[in-house]
Amino acid sequence: MTYDVVVIGSGPAGSVTARFAAQAGAKVLMIERRAEVGVPVLCGEGISQKVDKFHALEGKRWVANVMDGARIFSPNGTKVTLSAEYAGSETGYVVYRDIFDQELARGAVHAGAKLQMNTNAIGLLKKHGKIAGVKALYQGEPLDIEADVVVGADGVESKVGKWAGIKTTLKPNDLETCAQYTMTNVDCPDAFCDFYLGKKIAPGGYVWVFPKGKDVANVGIGVLSSLSESGLAMRLLDEFIANHPELRKGEPVRLLAGADPVAKPIESVRDNLVLVGDAARQVDPITGGGLMASIEGGMIAGDVIGAAVKKQKFDKDVLMAYETRWQQAYGKKLLRNYVVKEILLDMEDKTLDMLADSLKDYQFEEFSTLSLIKALVGKHPSLLVKLTPLMKLART
Ligand SMILES: Cc1cc2nc3c(=O)[nH]c(=O)nc-3n(C[C@H](O)[C@H](O)[C@H](O)COP(=O)(O)OP(=O)(O)OC[C@H]3O[C@@H](n4cnc5c(N)ncnc54)[C@H](O)[C@@H]3O)c2cc1C
Repeated sequence: MTYDVVVIGSGPAGSVTARFAAQAGAKVLMIERRAEVGVPVLCGEGISQKVDKFHALEGKRWVANVMDGARIFSPNGTKVTLSAEYAGSETGYVVYRDIFDQELARGAVHAGAKLQMNTNAIGLLKKHGKIAGVKALYQGEPLDIEADVVVGADGVESKVGKWAGIKTTLKPNDLETCAQYTMTNVDCPDAFCDFYLGKKIAPGGYVWVFPKGKDVANVGIGVLSSLSESGLAMRLLDEFIANHPELRKGEPVRLLAGADPVAKPIESVRDNLVLVGDAARQVDPITGGGLMASIEGGMIAGDVIGAAVKKQKFDKDVLMAYETRWQQAYGKKLLRNYVVKEILLDMEDKTLDMLADSLKDYQFEEFSTLSLIKALVGKHPSLLVKLTPLMKLART
């Protein structure tokens, strides 16, 4: 089997990369170890409506619910509201992640990429010491796939980067252990995504309640692995539900457990190889959200790889255009949010309560972590004094 590009993983990062490379004329194969794209769902399914500007998804079949805003509850219950009333119409969606991923995969196939399921990448093919494709198992049988460019879009558990000699190991304080119920027969009186903070509620993370409809919600928790022990995330999630009557009367129709990187992005390019999405740790370290960066990164990667195929040049120098462009597009934001995450982790619950109290009447003009940070720094300039030197350190 010979291709210009082989993409490992059919999540958002893989599908969008495959689509843009195929659109640029490359012969692309995307392989996926699972038997169904996007299943099982491992996601809170929240995304900003800014996703619309990428035009990566057709129609709205993948939208479960359109949000009117978000609320953050500090440990003592003080509420900070980001509402469409002030922020305008660009809020968020709760999506059906399985349909979302399948729509993105359809976009790749429509552009000419081939998709092969039940195909597990197990290593890199090398020729004359250079990466020349992927060794895989298809339905358990060995399969060699030759390609000029290998794309590691294999998610949080990525092995592709490691095979290429990139440091991908996540420290326990850069990894969230997550659990989530999709609950039915709960009360979701309004279309707000809720976030609950506090060392007792979710050490180093938060609990989320994302309404998928009037009586269905994703109720999940992320706990920093360095502050966690076996079973803690699920225990705290059960406790949270037991303490909330609007959730207590419901029952779970889906249960998931997974991990989410909240790390600094890593290097993403080698000769003949790029990493995209969670595999490159392109995730917002404050929220753990990675869907937007996977899509934007995939667009840039596919574009750069397509150009490389046209020039028939695949060394690091050429593919680095991808890293330069994603760093410009959202790399600085991820680094800044990593530093903010570290500052937040150091805060006692009473400090979080104080910060929430100072923002409880604030009118946010945008739905973003940036608008939150700006508001916090505006109210508490000492945070900026902390942030600036840490940003410099984080870059090194
Ligand atoms: C509990 C939880 C909740 C989350 N909630 C949100 C949220 O609400 N909003 C948000 O924006 N983000 C959320 N995230 C993060 C988001 O899910 C990821 O950032 C996003 O899925 C990254 O996309 P990706 O394409 O990089 O990786 P993935 O979506 O993980 O796709 C990787 C694909 O590669 C395949 N694969 C892996 N290894 C191989 C192999 N060896 N061979 C072949 N195929 C392989 C996998 O099967 C998978 O299909 C959440 C994460 C977790 C764990």
